[in-house]
Amino acid sequence: MYLKVDKATKKYGAFTALDGVSIELEKGEFVCLLGPSGCGKTTLLRIIAGLTGIDAGSLLLEGQDISKVPARQRDFGIVFQSYSLFPNMTVAQNIGYGLKIRGVSEATIASRVTDLLEMVHLPNVGQKYPGQLSGGQQQRIALARAIAVDPRVLLLDEPLSALDAKVRGSLRDEIKQVQRSLGIPTLMVTHDQEEAIALADKIICMNHGVVVQAGTPEELYHKPKTRFVADFMGAGNLIEPCRVQDVMPELLADMPTTGNGRYFASLRPEKISVKSDQQGTSTIRSISFLGNLTRLKLESPLGDLVVETHGESELTEGQAVALEIAPSSVAWVADDMEGEAV
Ligand code: ADP
Ligand code: MG
Repeated sequence: MYLKVDKATKKYGAFTALDGVSIELEKGEFVCLLGPSGCGKTTLLRIIAGLTGIDAGSLLLEGQDISKVPARQRDFGIVFQSYSLFPNMTVAQNIGYGLKIRGVSEATIASRVTDLLEMVHLPNVGQKYPGQLSGGQQQRIALARAIAVDPRVLLLDEPLSALDAKVRGSLRDEIKQVQRSLGIPTLMVTHDQEEAIALADKIICMNHGVVVQAGTPEELYHKPKTRFVADFMGAGNLIEPCRVQDVMPELLADMPTTGNGRYFASLRPEKISVKSDQQGTSTIRSISFLGNLTRLKLESPLGDLVVETHGESELTEGQAVALEIAPSSVAWVADDMEGEAV
């Protein structure tokens, strides 16, 4: 294990921001910390960076406890959400800053800066000031600055969230490419599940200061373990077990029998297939054409359902339809949002 946070706890007064959080990052791995605003993502990242102290638990880098090592001696690269470049330094000076304070020669810095500017596809901006660059360009420079010193870990705190959608998409691809080519172990905070799916080898999903589920993007997308994770990953449909029992009892086969909490069947909109059938017990209430997909809202014996289909469709509003659902496409999720409306 390259980086390991073990049972980290952090309190602000009486408020517990992190409650026994454990995470792991392997060499070369890209891990995303995913969760809603206020769940403790930045707090965890700052603890790893050494910018915030830890109340309990440990922080290990290659087996060594680094929780008492000052931030600047950890050799980590950090990129924050808002543009954090030094405004009174040129782009080249910004990128070279970490090398300069480490006593690297001017000539070596100059050639390294040239290479890094090429890498982030901004070869000609070295003599400009940050204020002369767009938001997306500034974040590229912030990334170049963070990797200039060959950091042992790259920490990214919502680096894309201040950018507009198109820039966000292209910079996302670029971050992935740079991380892959250099193999820097990377931990990125995001509240955007699409971003996490696109970038991460592993997603750590957090809520209220605890880790709810960690796994590959595929695992969290197809097999969420709790209602919170299903909801956060945009699962779309949550079905009461009693309805499943009445309508499609074959789907109950995989429902966990251990534990005494409540479970729901979580079903992604693209996993339900709909066929025109005059004897069908479900009815199409609305059809929305969204370009790459068509979204249907159905009234069914399972409850109200959202269904997404691709390609041409003959279906019309008000029509009776039959549903087909493969048992393997159902994820049974524990109810960790008790009391909140389904
Ligand atoms: P996230 O990055 O997931 O949005 P944060 O880690 O920034 O969440 O914050 C987690 C919780 O801790 C929030 O409720 C926030 O208000 C609280 N918090 C963060 N920093 C401080 C602080 N310095 N003092 C008091 N409360 C804080
Ligand atoms: Mg944050």
